[in-house]
Amino acid sequence: MSRLHEHLSTGPVICAEGYLFELERRGYLQAGAFVPEVVLEHPEMVAQLHREFVHAGSDVVEAFTYYAHREKLALIGREGDLEAINRQALQLAADVAAEQSSLLAGNICNSNVFDPADPSSHDIVRAMFTEQVAWAAEANVDFVIGETFSYAQEALIALEVIKAAGLDAVITLSIHRSVDTRDGWTVEEACRRIEDAGADVVGLNCIRGPRTMLPLIERVRAALSGPVAALPVPYRTTEDEPTFQSLTDPGVDIPGDRPFPVALDPLTCNRYEMGEFAATAHALGVDYLGVCCGAGPHHIRSVAEALGRTPPGSRFTADMSKHAYFGTDQQLKPGNRAFATEL
Ligand SMILES: [Zn+2]
Repeated sequence: MSRLHEHLSTGPVICAEGYLFELERRGYLQAGAFVPEVVLEHPEMVAQLHREFVHAGSDVVEAFTYYAHREKLALIGREGDLEAINRQALQLAADVAAEQSSLLAGNICNSNVFDPADPSSHDIVRAMFTEQVAWAAEANVDFVIGETFSYAQEALIALEVIKAAGLDAVITLSIHRSVDTRDGWTVEEACRRIEDAGADVVGLNCIRGPRTMLPLIERVRAALSGPVAALPVPYRTTEDEPTFQSLTDPGVDIPGDRPFPVALDPLTCNRYEMGEFAATAHALGVDYLGVCCGAGPHHIRSVAEALGRTPPGSRFTADMSKHAYFGTDQQLKPGNRAFATEL
């Protein structure tokens, strides 16, 4: 049995994602093109974030090769760095995974050049995936995540390439305002086709927050027989604004009038909301849980704790009993505790 299936047989897999957003917030890559240049320029920052996510409860170290594909690197004039960025990201992830005994995942994603009506684009996409998956295979990953596909047909190409390399595949689709894929397939049909084509885990990631992803995940869970994945973004999406790209923040002056991607802070879910999401999804029968763009280690720790785990970071999970004003500890000054009502 592969390491992924071995882990799935003992309970849900937790996979922290959201490297682009977190490293953008920290000032190491640029929103817009969103290319993981930090892998080459500040590799120590990427390794550090891998460690933080494992400390918080992630079972998986995902190589930061999201958008490290040919189309994106060409867009910023760094196509020559394609192999170096992929190999370096895989090495960084492999080192941390070995050090932490975590699962090691490679990663490929939406190409932004796929067009269902243009077969030549399918060949371009297949070639992009093939080169990235070959580097992942050489790095001895436990599995490859193919994610954030709006087109289920593009996801199927990714799956085919991963399987041809003899690797396990976790394939997740991104569902925008329409609850169908961009190919016009229902979410159940799309996921079923991907499962039938041999994916080891199938589900949804990114774009939707917990509130608007859960109803779709329920449908996916009911339609599939194998493991299901759910990795929402930690934002308070609603029925009217079901995606983090459609969220608004009325009365706040933001360039472009759109909080996405760098002004979503006030719309962020707190750790309790992400814990509640994880508990609900787990109860529905979801086997692979995580948080996508916007995730911080505190979100991941709450996901882990919602599954009854105590990762190393749980040593510092909030305990207000010793808080100077709101605490209950008898050593605290009674005057300060009484003053709590004035705070
Ligand atoms: Zn995302």
